[in-house]
Amino acid sequence: MEEHGMSREGIESLLQEKKLKDLSYESVLSSMCTYPHEISAYAHNKFLESNLGDSGLFPGTKEMEDEVIRMIGALLGNENAFGYISTGGTESNIQAIRAIGNRKRREGLSEMNIIVPETAHFSFDKIADILGIEVRKAALDEELKVAVNSVEELINDKTICVVGIAGTTEFGQIDPLKEISEIAKEKDIFLHVDAAFGGFVIPFLEEKYEFDFSLEGVSSISIDPHKMGMSTIPAGCMLFREELYLEELAVPTPYLTTKEQCSLIGTRSGASVAATFAVLKYLGREGLKGIVSECMRLTRMLVRGAKEIDIPPVIEPVMNVVTLSFPATEVGRVANALEGRGWRVSVTRVPKALRLVIMPHVKEETVKTFLEDLEDVV
Ligand SMILES: *Cc1c(COP(=O)(O)O)cnc(C)c1O
Repeated sequence: MEEHGMSREGIESLLQEKKLKDLSYESVLSSMCTYPHEISAYAHNKFLESNLGDSGLFPGTKEMEDEVIRMIGALLGNENAFGYISTGGTESNIQAIRAIGNRKRREGLSEMNIIVPETAHFSFDKIADILGIEVRKAALDEELKVAVNSVEELINDKTICVVGIAGTTEFGQIDPLKEISEIAKEKDIFLHVDAAFGGFVIPFLEEKYEFDFSLEGVSSISIDPHKMGMSTIPAGCMLFREELYLEELAVPTPYLTTKEQCSLIGTRSGASVAATFAVLKYLGREGLKGIVSECMRLTRMLVRGAKEIDIPPVIEPVMNVVTLSFPATEVGRVANALEGRGWRVSVTRVPKALRLVIMPHVKEETVKTFLEDLEDVV
């Protein structure tokens, strides 16, 4: 830091210079984030100083959080769910496993494992590390959903949790949660659903899928307002069916206005809670459905266009994630060539494919231009 501060104008031009180095989302097809809705940005700005880590000082913000939890709970089949607004899917996943882990440890279990699909988000590798829990990876079926028999085979007397994914990060696939829920219920195992991406998509698809608290075996859900919920970063959401699991996370907070804290982090953004509250109220289910419908229309258009130039999808898209099949030796070259033309795309692990996420910032014109470039580079 310099001894003397800079002028306001100096700072503004410095920021502008940095901003120009960042990409704008228009050519980004690799991200699950997007521009926040205008109303989210407005609400975020209005509550910049609000800290839910000490929520007694911000009862208005806390009221918004409580209502957001009710709104998202109701969207996911349980308006009486318990939870809080986290920093994202990673924190929600950590907290879900920490809650059931704490409970089992108090019950006397010392060695534990959880079972996740091979397609699980890398946050589960962090969980293995932080919580010292073995993470067992279940195999997939040919549609890249978790194979139920593989999950069953991996369960043993140390298994404290099974994780199912509603919208896998790489392929946008939904695990057979109805069957997994039945296994969880029968064996009395905690079932966590990672709907970080799919939670704000699946309820609005034309095709209906069972994935949420309407399935009796589902114990907790992670869903991210900062992905398809059009909120600002950081906004994740952690929901439990039963309050006792939220209480497993409580730590006493002696010098604050509240007695205890359940979040992983301390100081916590009230701004992104206000943003989430505002955008859910503003759009309503109808507005969110409109956004998802448009993303799905463009997703289908992209897949149709790719098929016309003989590039098949790995799976018929379930949500607004498209993966295109290429020979393993080709996919890197295609991705690089597209990047050379200004696109940002990504490549999946297994099977190797070109991955494109059709977020709300993607427009019809973008899809058309992308398809022309794709045809050119192949
Ligand atoms: C994005 C994602 C996460 C991680 O969420 P962050 O908000 O990046 O922490 C976890 N699970 C799934 C399925 C995701 O798509």
